[in-house]
Amino acid sequence: MKNPFLTTILIEVHTVEDGRFEIRECVPQNHRALFARAHFDADEAIIGFAASEVRTEPDRYTVQIDRDSHIVLDPLYLQYINHHCNPNVMFDCRTMEVRALRAIEPGDELTFFYPSTEWSMEEPFACHCGSPLCLGRIRGAAFLSSAVLAEYEVNPHIAELVRERALNTVKAG
Ligand SMILES: [Zn+2]
Repeated sequence: MKNPFLTTILIEVHTVEDGRFEIRECVPQNHRALFARAHFDADEAIIGFAASEVRTEPDRYTVQIDRDSHIVLDPLYLQYINHHCNPNVMFDCRTMEVRALRAIEPGDELTFFYPSTEWSMEEPFACHCGSPLCLGRIRGAAFLSSAVLAEYEVNPHIAELVRERALNTVKAG
């Protein structure tokens, strides 16, 4: 482990209805994360997702699927796909599928780049993902430069908001 603060102890594995995934629960903090139990190819649509509820405001477990909609995920266990600055999946809001960004092997944690869906997060946090590309404090795409966001695949509503921000900056200038 590069960072001693990242040292976590696995205390429990929770099975989910789809046997290709499992939830691992670690201490400290009862941190939960979703892991693959199967191989997925790069670019593979690994599972569809839907909304069990649509909200107008985000919380720590919702995913933003357009400018004004923050959904509670169905299946719910997809909420345990945590953030990483070098992620291996994305929530594709055009197809409503979780898609692999590269090949995933059994035992890999599934992670996505929160700012690829989230414009301004309800609960910003300090990322300790360990990636050389780690962005540190994660607050949503609104707080990242266009240059940083260009390194990632983001959803249409994020791309649109970034374009609007750039136009407003030009006008203000
Ligand atoms: Zn990070």
